[in-house]
Amino acid sequence: MVNRQRLIDNFINMVKVDSPSGNELEMATWLINYLKERNIEVKMDSAGDKIGGNCGNIVAYIKGESSENPICFAAHMDQVMPCLGVKPVIDGNLIKTDGTTTLGADDKAGIAAILEALECVLEDKVPHRDIYLLFTACEESGLNGAKNFKSENLPCKDVVILDAGGATGVIAYKAPAQETIKVTFHGKKAHAGIEPEKGINAIVVASHAISNMHIGRLDELTTSNIGRIEGGGATNIVTDEVTFTAEIRSHVPKRLAEEIEHMKKCCVDAAEKFNATCEFINENAYPSFELSKDSYVFKLSEEAIRKVGIEPNPMIIGGGSDANIIANLGYRCAILSVGMYEVHTVNEYVNTDEMYQAAQMVYHMMAL
Ligand code: ZN
Ligand code: CA
Repeated sequence: MVNRQRLIDNFINMVKVDSPSGNELEMATWLINYLKERNIEVKMDSAGDKIGGNCGNIVAYIKGESSENPICFAAHMDQVMPCLGVKPVIDGNLIKTDGTTTLGADDKAGIAAILEALECVLEDKVPHRDIYLLFTACEESGLNGAKNFKSENLPCKDVVILDAGGATGVIAYKAPAQETIKVTFHGKKAHAGIEPEKGINAIVVASHAISNMHIGRLDELTTSNIGRIEGGGATNIVTDEVTFTAEIRSHVPKRLAEEIEHMKKCCVDAAEKFNATCEFINENAYPSFELSKDSYVFKLSEEAIRKVGIEPNPMIIGGGSDANIIANLGYRCAILSVGMYEVHTVNEYVNTDEMYQAAQMVYHMMAL
């Protein structure tokens, strides 16, 4: 059976291993050693070289009693800063930090749940399906491990990712695409007191453009935001350059395209009105993904959650994760929660009761 103490011990050992994005090698080595001690085949791909990090993605394979419906269980190895020298603090059924770092329950709670489930299956010699494990690098720094992942290393179709926040029971099955945008307005410099009429103030142009934009929640499935604006200098100079960054997210590709066009039109029109110029650069950060509720992996997730005594909580999420990238390589991805809270902050903690439930869920999904 799932061993609660062993799960917690493994989790604590892992959070003590530094693993900032791009520097996951120590964590990867820990995992490779763990798997090799159990005679599990494991390999690392070359994504690290392409990302400029010290570590690629790890894939492991455990042959089962049935080759029907193999499943991959996935989590990411990296965590957000500040995360060097994590000192976990046990407080009843919670594990927190000393307040100086993130905990890295995002996503080591996911890794710990997967490893504990696997350990039980192997230890109890439970008949199980063909199991793949995928541990990615650089998820937090732009999904770059997943973006450089080669699908030939993972010959199955269903992937269960243990990386959703909040109470156990969540099955995140739909996430938006995101476009990142950078705009630069070029006006014309002039002395603001002597000959302002010779200048074109880029701040005025940008303000005009932004005041016409759709910002915030645009509809139920679409959002946008301006992240940062910068430009200008002394008050006696008409500002000649302003740059801002923005993002637009949508679950609906057509709406995403419309809103990109609208934002662009606001910029072009403002530049034209003031005789300025603008550069509008947009780039897809990640595509959207959606898992059918009729799919095998969705139904299996529901069943596993019910076996643990929880009502499944299918959820549409607003953020991107490895699932956005992996799903667009042709995999069917479900993202399950593992009891991590306040992630990406120094208040991050994990509820070990929920991490334990997550390990039980994974166990039920591995076992035949
Ligand atoms: Zn995560
Ligand atoms: Ca995260």
